Amino acid sequence: MTAHSIATAKVAALDWIDRNAVAIAETNDCLFYFGEPSLEEYESASFLTSVLRNAGFDVETGISDFPTAFMATWGSGAPVIALHAEYDGTPGGSQKSGIAAQDPIVPGAPGHAEGHQANATVMIATALAAKCVMEKLRIKGTLKLFGAPGEELAISRPFFVRDGYFDDVDAAFHNHISDAFFTEVGQTQISLISAEFTFSGESTHAGLTPWLGRDALDAVILMDNGMAQYREHIRPEMRAHRVITNGGSQPNVISEKASVWWYFRGISAEDTRTLFERATDIAEGAARMTQTRLSVDVKSAVWPTRCNRVLACILDRTLREIGMPNWSDEEVDFARKLQQAAGVRVEGLRTEVSRMRGPDAPEMSSNDCGDISWKVPMGRLWFPGSVPNVHFHHWSGGAMLTTSITHKGIIAATKVLTLSILECLSEPNLLSEVRKTFAEEIGDILYSPMIPNDQKPSLRPHLRLMEHYRPLMREYYQLKRPFFEM
Ligand SMILES: [Zn+2]
Repeated sequence: MTAHSIATAKVAALDWIDRNAVAIAETNDCLFYFGEPSLEEYESASFLTSVLRNAGFDVETGISDFPTAFMATWGSGAPVIALHAEYDGTPGGSQKSGIAAQDPIVPGAPGHAEGHQANATVMIATALAAKCVMEKLRIKGTLKLFGAPGEELAISRPFFVRDGYFDDVDAAFHNHISDAFFTEVGQTQISLISAEFTFSGESTHAGLTPWLGRDALDAVILMDNGMAQYREHIRPEMRAHRVITNGGSQPNVISEKASVWWYFRGISAEDTRTLFERATDIAEGAARMTQTRLSVDVKSAVWPTRCNRVLACILDRTLREIGMPNWSDEEVDFARKLQQAAGVRVEGLRTEVSRMRGPDAPEMSSNDCGDISWKVPMGRLWFPGSVPNVHFHHWSGGAMLTTSITHKGIIAATKVLTLSILECLSEPNLLSEVRKTFAEEIGDILYSPMIPNDQKPSLRPHLRLMEHYRPLMREYYQLKRPFFEM
């Protein structure tokens, strides 16, 4: 493709995105009101796959045994560009959007308190826009859009990679909502293992015959004490945090079963594996001390996230071309009121794009896209749409998610990703440069998934929560579905 026709492709993409801005915003709002937590994204997945099917994509649902996962494909042959996005909310995240005060839609219900619905919206819009331009200008290649459920449990994407869905992919893109507009290079997040430790003992009457009991809750507590002592000796950048998922039923019944669910994090996959193995030793010690039996369920194991430098340069240049959205006085005023109500620094909205993050300045967080980023070159875009200083998984993180602040950020991000993808598809030398630098970046580190070959995903930790809340949340679902002009 000539330089002239790259310019034509970009003009056509920007035109498509501007023409479909209302449908894109409506997609975001539909997902927001579904507000489904990890692995309960049934409405969200069915809505997104229907949009993709209507736009001419082939859709395979339930990939890697996740009922709320999908892969949507359009086009044929090389190069193959993958997009992947999450669309889960969090338990207790229900919050009305456009209200600068804590005010749940349904008290106690799950909801979007971070903005993953915007992440998915950007990816859907990008896939549709890129497809439209490729079709019109006969640009060769394949688009694969992966719906990745359960990001908050860091669970689905290592399974996709293990099961071969990325074997033919040339480059992958991920995105995430933020209050800033930037990309990143090198290692950007850390590795994670999610595992539940279950102890089995003997129940008995706690008053009459406690000497006959073997208390599984004691083992959970001793494991916790062991981890607290061991914490002194872990590397400073390691993290270990947990919730007790089963502590027993009532005080006069000695707990026959008790479980604790841990996340372990380290800079490298190797460090995280070491931390997990030491924790397992401690759990075995706790089982021995209490004469209980231990079983360990590794739910997920994720490599750190890393980003390729050539893809980062394309994203960085393109986001500078597109620039930050122009915020209205009302939007800035709302952001200030929200910051005030959340008790954080009041500074309105950012007006400048940010520097590229990195190289190799990882945050102490993880994302299950990590495995993808070691399998194929990956680029990631952080886009504005949230409000500076408010925090995720807090009511304030959801209070702007259907306002024009988020809608404008989504449009800007869709433009950056679509133009970057069209550039990768149009410039044959670019992808060979991406491949070459990726090989250099990976060096002699041999990637292999940390989850075992035969492992099936463990599903639906929020099933009962949703059985209760889904009927109440359904009353707020958006009836209007987006119409995309192709
Ligand atoms: Zn997130």
